[in-house]
Amino acid sequence: MESVVRLEDVSVHYYTFTGVVKAVDRVTLDIPRGEFVSFVGESGSGKSTLALALLRLVPPPGRIVSGRIVFNGMDLLSLPEQKMRELRGKSISMVFQDPMTSLDPVRKVGEQIADVYIEHGVTTDMEEALKLAREALEMVGIPGDRVNYYPHQLSGGQRQRVLIAAAVALKPSLLIADEPTTALDVIVQAKIMDLLEDLMKELKMSVILITHDIALAAERSDRIAVMYAGRVVEYGPVDAIIENPLHPYTRGLLESAPDLWGEKRIKGIPGNPPDLRNPPRGCPFHPRCPRRFDPCDKDEPEYVKVDDRIVSCHLYTR
Ligand code: ATP
Ligand code: SF4
Repeated sequence: MESVVRLEDVSVHYYTFTGVVKAVDRVTLDIPRGEFVSFVGESGSGKSTLALALLRLVPPPGRIVSGRIVFNGMDLLSLPEQKMRELRGKSISMVFQDPMTSLDPVRKVGEQIADVYIEHGVTTDMEEALKLAREALEMVGIPGDRVNYYPHQLSGGQRQRVLIAAAVALKPSLLIADEPTTALDVIVQAKIMDLLEDLMKELKMSVILITHDIALAAERSDRIAVMYAGRVVEYGPVDAIIENPLHPYTRGLLESAPDLWGEKRIKGIPGNPPDLRNPPRGCPFHPRCPRRFDPCDKDEPEYVKVDDRIVSCHLYTR
């Protein structure tokens, strides 16, 4: 299995006045080339921070404190900033939740897509860049003449398509989408997800979806990484995880998801995620875990491989 990106022991901390927040804690995994991988977890589990780390865009007071991120054979964490800037938007792109904050309200959407071609030196001619922007819009299902529209003249779904057009303009090998459909209604959400899947196949990209919605991840992904308290607690092929979740937290998420598990009663996970400035000793999930036993509040579980999955839980370490 060839990977587009490999994370090795990556940790990201925020150095706040009230303490060090361990937002991402020693994450190791491979994203296979050409696959759709979702990072799933509750709010505050570290999903967005991990996505920003992949682009080396963690904002202060955050810092990537350790690990390696190997993208297409390059160690991103040791690249000069100039080289990183070239890669962003060209080889690795990102779309965020709210298109309105990413788009400039007073510039035509075509110009904003054209910027990508100019910034990355595809052309120096604005007319030529606008022609390419028109093609990029058509690729995401928006009529080309809308290059002349301002963001407010488009619907929320169309604005998200504009951002996707800008993100895939240079045919990146990895697209990261951070809750791209949270602000949209269910039907528009499904269409945007269809678009991401189509583009993935057409452009032979890998896609990382960041979402709190395990049902959405289950429907769309080849693989799921479940995050809890900055750790990836389970990672593997989607079918295996949905059919037989190994980690009690994954099971809890699935039991909280309407529809996924047929007629089963929706339960939810009692309690709250820990404060990442001071996470519990041992397994970070132990205060909420229905299956905790002797070692759980003392020793942190190592990662173990179970078939084609990795899981971090004492149920599988002994
Ligand atoms: P959400 O879905 O709410 O965005 P998430 O799973 O993406 O959550 P992150 O946003 O990565 O999680 O946050 C992980 C942890 O890092 C949280 O405890 C959060 O409070 C903390 N954090 C995130 N950004 C900052 C920041 N700029 N300064 C300090 N702490 C931060
Ligand atoms: Fe539950 Fe223990 Fe597994 Fe943590 S290590 S998830 S507390 S059984």
